[in-house]
Amino acid sequence: MELSANAKINLTLDILRKREDGYHDLQMVMQSVTLADALTVAPAREAEGQAVSDLHFLPTGGKNLVQIAAAAFRQATGLGGEVDVSIQKHVPVCAGLAGGSADAAAVLTAMNRLAGAGLSPAELAKIGERVGSDVPFCVLGGTALAEGRGEVLTPLSPLPPCHIVVCKPPFSISTPQLFGRVNVRKIVRRPDTAGVIAALDAGDLAGVARRMYNVFEDVLEPRRASEISEIKAALIDCGALGASMSGSGPSVFGLFDDSDSAQAACDRLRETYRDVFLCGPAGAE
Ligand code: ATP
Repeated sequence: MELSANAKINLTLDILRKREDGYHDLQMVMQSVTLADALTVAPAREAEGQAVSDLHFLPTGGKNLVQIAAAAFRQATGLGGEVDVSIQKHVPVCAGLAGGSADAAAVLTAMNRLAGAGLSPAELAKIGERVGSDVPFCVLGGTALAEGRGEVLTPLSPLPPCHIVVCKPPFSISTPQLFGRVNVRKIVRRPDTAGVIAALDAGDLAGVARRMYNVFEDVLEPRRASEISEIKAALIDCGALGASMSGSGPSVFGLFDDSDSAQAACDRLRETYRDVFLCGPAGAE
């Protein structure tokens, strides 16, 4: 079975409070994009399923998120056997784009079909919670408000058709370190989440784009912050209606209503960066 596993971007990312269990309550408007990994899922040839990809540093066996998802599916349903998964990675790893979670979600969907389990997307998303906080969103896809740790999902009006330029600079940012640096009571700038939702309802792309923000941008190390700002400035300079960092970074994206401007932004960013992608919004399952 062949599937594509769509990455996501955060149109907004806000941190509401630190919980007693040490996790943070988040509020994020999430959007699936057409930038995607390509997966093949088949019954395993040996006793234990494998995960092979074109990236030598990803785990090949039970530690790959696709095998963790397959095990979670078997455990939750008592159905389905071991599977071999082959992954063509197009989504950069550790990029704030939920590439691994997208792969895991695609495997849950594949196993549901292969085993004829007939679970609804909501039931599959529930199983996905055991694999990672972004997996439930990746199962449902489209445009959604994600709350709690990211697993409490409310579908939203779709992002209007647009061109999305994603640029991943060549460094990674530790998510636990970022959370460690956030003092929830001292967050000065927050995204206008309600305004973004209202703009989505109105089909107002520019209204969405100008209200986007990610509170992690305020707690980046200064040299990382300046590189993120430079990419955002380049996107805006080329005509983006708005630009923001996705998730815990370092990927930055811009929304464009005009394909020539989006292409010009890609060309300009590719002079400096290798991982630059032109994609669009992807719909819900
Ligand atoms: P998020 O936006 O959810 O924080 P991310 O984009 O920062 O995700 P991913 O690329 O989803 O990060 O995951 C990165 C980590 O997961 C790496 O440590 C990687 O080794 C591990 N991993 C396990 N399986 C996969 C997979 N199929 N694809 C990518 N990473 C995987």
